[in-house]
Amino acid sequence: MTGHLTSPDRLSHASKAAAAAGIDALLVTPGPDLRWLTGYDALPLERLTCLVVPANGESFMVAPGLEVPAVLASPVKDLGIEVVGWGETDDPYAAIAARLTQPAKVALANRMWAEQVLRLRAALPGAEQTLASEVIGDLRMRKSAQEIDALRRAGQAIDRVHARMGAFLRPGRSEREAGRDIATAILDEGHVTVDFVIVGSGPNGASPHHELGDRVLQSGDVVVVDIGGTTAEGYCSDCTRMYTLGQPPSEFVDYFRVLHAAQLAACAQAHPGVTAESVDAAARRVIASGGYGEHFIHRTGHGIGVETHEEPYIVEGSTRLLEPGMAFSIEPGIYLPGRHGARIEDIVVTTEDGIERLNTTDRDYVVLEG
Ligand code: ZN
Ligand code: ZN
Repeated sequence: MTGHLTSPDRLSHASKAAAAAGIDALLVTPGPDLRWLTGYDALPLERLTCLVVPANGESFMVAPGLEVPAVLASPVKDLGIEVVGWGETDDPYAAIAARLTQPAKVALANRMWAEQVLRLRAALPGAEQTLASEVIGDLRMRKSAQEIDALRRAGQAIDRVHARMGAFLRPGRSEREAGRDIATAILDEGHVTVDFVIVGSGPNGASPHHELGDRVLQSGDVVVVDIGGTTAEGYCSDCTRMYTLGQPPSEFVDYFRVLHAAQLAACAQAHPGVTAESVDAAARRVIASGGYGEHFIHRTGHGIGVETHEEPYIVEGSTRLLEPGMAFSIEPGIYLPGRHGARIEDIVVTTEDGIERLNTTDRDYVVLEG
């Protein structure tokens, strides 16, 4: 995939951040950190591919010989990163150790495999290991204008899928059948991968991360649809809307109003300078005073970028201050076990004086043909 958004600034910022943190080198295997730093969406393999970003010196990438053509077809080449291929009988861990002069501290990609962590520890016995998020977490969390544009396009893509939901959700179809059509629509509307499809119909909607089951949709059902994918630029979408097949039960209408008000309250609270936990509290307060406090069983939101879940988390206990350029979800929910549940989710980005919603379809529940 060569469409991934990247920028040479990210490597130089990462290198400077490593130096400032007293970290000698950043070691990055395939995954979101590598995609963010280089735009290279490498296959995760047992053969080692590892980008090395020294605090002082030029970055290089160790890669299996057979993967070198893929590396060179990626933005890695345009970034001027030296590619060091290794043969089937070479030791790539030793190759990294040979090029780093006895580092005292290295930072490893957060999603690195345990096998690689341990082999790097053996190859660099004098080096303390820490997480790459210490170096690039803040950089990834504060989105550039270019990244916000990419997230906006991802938001529009998933909004187009929600706009087509009437064709997918019908009485007599199973969640799985509907989910297959939704997955196809996620790809058709501008994503390259389907990251998750949650169709929680009736009682299944009371489980926040229920995905797809064999339950057949029925007239009068309340359905939670939470879907997301990754675009060719490498950025994620994530949006939840509520659907009913015909007129919903009055109990649902009552708590949906509370939920809707809670989501609006959290959106109104989110602006630069406030804590992440205050946004969570704003939603929680409305739901508690509506009498459903015990039914809101998860945090209010999570950051989003090249991963669906990343910093900043919108959760009680997080005193992190929101800043312009932070992108995250606002997704309170109310779940009634055995009956049904509801969630409303928008991705928003903090602006200079508030937020911009990146999902712009109506947040009200949509009544489909029952
Ligand atoms: Zn979601
Ligand atoms: Zn979410």
